[in-house]
Amino acid sequence: MTAVDTDPHAQIAAFRDGLRAWLEDNDLTPGPDHSLDGQVEQLMRVRRALYDADWMRYGWPAEVTGLGGPAALRAILGEEIATRDLAEPGIYSMIEVLAPTMISYARPELAAEMVPLLLSGREQWCQGFSEPGSGSDLASLSTKATQRGDEWVVSGQKVWTSLAQYAARCVLLTRTGPGHDGITAFFVDMDSPGITVRPLRTMHGVDEFAEVFFDDVVVPADRMLGKPGDGWRVAMDLLPYERSTCFWHRIAYLLTRLDQVIEQTTIADDAELGAAYLALHTVRCRSLGTQRRLAAGERLGAETSIDKVLLATAEQRLFDTARDLLPGEVEFGESPWRTEFLYSRAATIYGGTAEIQRNIIARRLLDLGKE
Ligand SMILES: Cc1cc2nc3c(=O)[nH]c(=O)nc-3n(C[C@H](O)[C@H](O)[C@H](O)COP(=O)(O)OP(=O)(O)OC[C@H]3O[C@@H](n4cnc5c(N)ncnc54)[C@H](O)[C@@H]3O)c2cc1C
Repeated sequence: MTAVDTDPHAQIAAFRDGLRAWLEDNDLTPGPDHSLDGQVEQLMRVRRALYDADWMRYGWPAEVTGLGGPAALRAILGEEIATRDLAEPGIYSMIEVLAPTMISYARPELAAEMVPLLLSGREQWCQGFSEPGSGSDLASLSTKATQRGDEWVVSGQKVWTSLAQYAARCVLLTRTGPGHDGITAFFVDMDSPGITVRPLRTMHGVDEFAEVFFDDVVVPADRMLGKPGDGWRVAMDLLPYERSTCFWHRIAYLLTRLDQVIEQTTIADDAELGAAYLALHTVRCRSLGTQRRLAAGERLGAETSIDKVLLATAEQRLFDTARDLLPGEVEFGESPWRTEFLYSRAATIYGGTAEIQRNIIARRLLDLGKE
């Protein structure tokens, strides 16, 4: 990249070329440990190397040690990492959700101190939103925060908190009053006294997420994100990032898996491969449009539910195709296809379930009424 690149297209092309050349010269290939511990260690290694070589700093503002440029540079970086299988895209992309939240809502000094820790792979963070009784109906959450002088005291329970056992901090939603305006977000140190993390095993055999218990956990008032009652806005403002850059990374990764099915299969079923390709290509086109709207400064909203439905459908279709065209890989043994097939079933749950997305599309985009 050169300082003279001011045209975003030229910037993106120069960034991609430079990054590719750098990745050729700097071997970040993962080691043989495919356990979750190994994946997280590899993720931190990749982030650290990319940050030290500045690639991870492009597309972020100077206030958090970024080097500026369009946010699309972050999409390109994640795409190159995902297509080379250098880091698992789901956990890599968490920066895209949590760092923008901090930049938008934390005190500037706090964002300046903390965001570089995340970008540079020195810390992993988690997102404490869902509770045992509040998933789709997130606004009913009940983890309580009570003000006590200059601090807040938090009590309650979160669940499905991805990578909580590795996290140094948590973006946490709490209840400080009634209704949507009674939700308040905090940035909490996970080593605070009173926090207990109990990992949960997924059906693909990995302790990927956890229950997190808060027992009178003291959080300084200056760790509040925004003002009291801003928590719902924090949660909603996260969606554009989750459904633009993160999706772009995931689609790139899924296309590599489609290539692998084509390489490995001995069954000539062009119709099934074609359907999987079409589903992935459709969501890639859709996602490109979403990125462009974000880059043009548009506010993303309910229409990203379409991206979510298309992505979850494409992901499940792809791994259904793998199951059909690579007989036995999913059903028997410890093949990565089995793990990925099982994980793909979660695509219609995390980040908002398929049913909820369809309700949003029907009610808010198509105006079809409540029933
Ligand atoms: C892999 C994975 C990682 C996750 N990581 C995190 C994380 O890091 N942090 C975090 O906070 N959460 C995380 N989650 C939780 C996720 O956000 C919730 O699972 C999701 O919001 C759904 O909530 P729920 O599980 O409570 O299901 P529920 O809301 O109880 O839904 C159960 C079923 O009922 C359906 N349903 C519910 N309400 C309606 C309705 N009104 N109309 C029609 N159908 C309805 C749903 O579609 C679903 O099929 C993760 C989940 C997964 C699978």
